[in-house]
Amino acid sequence: MRIAIIGAGATGLAAAYDLAKAGHSVTIFESGPEVGGLAAGFRDTRWDWTLEKFYHHWFATDHDILQMLDEIGCADKARFYAPTTSYWHEGGNFALDKPVLPSGFLSRIVNVLNIPSMSLIDRLRMGLVSGMVAFIPNGLFLEKHTADSWSRRWMGQAAHERFWKPMLIGKFGPLYDQVNMAWFWARMNKRTARLGTYVGGFQAALNDIAEAVQMLGVVIHLNASIEQIAMVEGRGLKVETGTMGGDFDQVLSTTSPSGMLKLVPHLPEAYASRLHNLHSIGAQCLILALDRQLMTDGTYWLNLPATSPHKDENPFPFLALVEHTNYLPKEHYGGDHLVYLGDYLAPDHEYFRMSEAEVVSRYLPSLTRVNSNFSPDWIRKRWLFRSPYAQPVPFIDHSQHLPDIRTPVSGLYFASMSQVYPWDRGTNYAVEMGRRVARMMIEDASTPSTQD
Ligand SMILES: Cc1cc2nc3c(=O)[nH]c(=O)nc-3n(C[C@H](O)[C@H](O)[C@H](O)COP(=O)(O)OP(=O)(O)OC[C@H]3O[C@@H](n4cnc5c(N)ncnc54)[C@H](O)[C@@H]3O)c2cc1C
Repeated sequence: MRIAIIGAGATGLAAAYDLAKAGHSVTIFESGPEVGGLAAGFRDTRWDWTLEKFYHHWFATDHDILQMLDEIGCADKARFYAPTTSYWHEGGNFALDKPVLPSGFLSRIVNVLNIPSMSLIDRLRMGLVSGMVAFIPNGLFLEKHTADSWSRRWMGQAAHERFWKPMLIGKFGPLYDQVNMAWFWARMNKRTARLGTYVGGFQAALNDIAEAVQMLGVVIHLNASIEQIAMVEGRGLKVETGTMGGDFDQVLSTTSPSGMLKLVPHLPEAYASRLHNLHSIGAQCLILALDRQLMTDGTYWLNLPATSPHKDENPFPFLALVEHTNYLPKEHYGGDHLVYLGDYLAPDHEYFRMSEAEVVSRYLPSLTRVNSNFSPDWIRKRWLFRSPYAQPVPFIDHSQHLPDIRTPVSGLYFASMSQVYPWDRGTNYAVEMGRRVARMMIEDASTPSTQD
């Protein structure tokens, strides 16, 4: 078969790998200048490693991506460490995932029991219920409840108000009380204290996968943005960038749902409305290269709980402060101390319309809360990255509303972050889905079409 894949992110590359291995002729069209999609990185002239535009790490449970790296002979480049994850609590950093015992699970229990200003009963209840949620093997049934109502009921009012509600508000803003509990379960179930990266950064991992894919004969066109996918009577599907394109037997699109609606404006109504109804929010990361350490207690990831969906009303006008060089050695980055100021936002949020200087002036004053000595002179360089499609938002009974990976158009497939549910988006689940869709495409080619 001649197969076109739109997008050279983790999903597109993983699908290409298996399709090419099965003997098919695969062409990838990628609108960006490099492979990697949302996991792509960039490199300042003085760095040896690339840095992800949006913070990225793997959990030790991310078996699909680790398996893929193993298959291409690069497993030894995945590196796991146990950095400290903390929570901003009553004016200071409180460690949540600090490795105080050899077992990550036991460390978390000890950390929860150490939470200040909550009664012992409340702490025990939160520790017990969190542990039990994490051990539920399949929490899809929890999608009938919102995370907000479930946590209030089972974790207890004190833990909910102090921890979970502020975390939900921080991440989902005004939608915080609509996100379902299966999403929350998936986060707790897969989280590990050990976090993984790749020698050279995530960009190096995606480049290695792309190289393995090209060795199998796959052609990757970069800076090639597909403008349309058209159905051609008796000749399959046509994809076009404006300057290049071609006819294909099968096409896999890994774009956002709104991107897919633009590429195929005449999708059957029922399928198109499923795409329309998928809700997601965007992400923004301001990255600072500092000449010294910001979080001197060694925290890598600091969760910044929000009490209000209005960013201005919270102590921090963003969601997460991530000091990358408290996780990986600054020597990979020419001695720079690298800090992300990250947030998730509705695509029409005012932050997306601000200039970089406006974002900087909104964000920087809050940094003196974590280090009273912080001064803007510490900044050597800064970067701002944005993506309007960054985090799917699953509402009640989300599984009933997902669009199928097989579209109703014969030979056309759609696989996006929104469909890895109940898992939260991640390169691991992108690889799993890419390989799953490749199996479907191979199977469909050898059996009569079930699509219209
Ligand atoms: C802020 C943030 C933090 C994250 N943290 C982590 C983490 O810690 N660990 C982790 O594993 N994952 C993390 N993720 C998620 C991870 O990045 C994604 O799950 C994964 O990259 C999705 O891969 P994908 O191939 O499905 O989609 P994408 O990476 O979005 O790839 C789709 C590709 O399609 C291309 N494309 C779109 N339209 C067209 C077109 N018309 N023509 C041609 N090409 C097109 C895009 O340029 C893109 O390269 C994070 C994501 C964000 C935003």
